[in-house]
Amino acid sequence: MSERSIDFKKMDGLVPAIVQDAVSGKVLMQGYMNEEALEKTKETKMVTFYSRSKNRLWTKGETSGNFMELVSIAIDCDGDSILVRANPRGPVCHTGSDTCFDEVNTSKTGFIDQLRAIIKDRKNNPTDKSYTASLFAKGINKVAQKVGEEAVEIVIEAKDDNKELFMGEAADLLYHYLVLLEAKGYELDEVMDVLIERHQKK
Ligand SMILES: [Zn+2]
Repeated sequence: MSERSIDFKKMDGLVPAIVQDAVSGKVLMQGYMNEEALEKTKETKMVTFYSRSKNRLWTKGETSGNFMELVSIAIDCDGDSILVRANPRGPVCHTGSDTCFDEVNTSKTGFIDQLRAIIKDRKNNPTDKSYTASLFAKGINKVAQKVGEEAVEIVIEAKDDNKELFMGEAADLLYHYLVLLEAKGYELDEVMDVLIERHQKK
């Protein structure tokens, strides 16, 4: 991918910035950034806009405390719009709503994508301290065996009535399942394709 940059001149110095929740994928708000705001966002890791009403840089959360922590920045094909992925520390809108579009922002399933990215990184850049890296180092048989063990453990907890223990095993199974997919070199999307195709056949 070529390095994209914003053409601030073309946009009279101000470019729309769309902020998306890095975990849920929900669109949180839209503001404007000038070059300084973009630089400050990168430097401080807190999403900062240029406020047209205040006529100055405005770091989201500077009064409410509901900062938006920067995760990544992407620039669109024409170099005139910014997509900011962030983790909001609280409701984003001044009305108290989760998003400026009055939507509820509670879905955490998007975290699976972050988790998959971390797992992939542990495979490609192993460290001594990483449990995930140690699994990859032991090879596919060991990873598959771990999935089997975790599956048995969730079966055992399913028969009991302890939510905390069941959730622990459910998380273990999902995590090891994702590690197995990565060890095999497959994407979760490919599993989704199978499920979607089955669903469409009905
Ligand atoms: Zn708002």
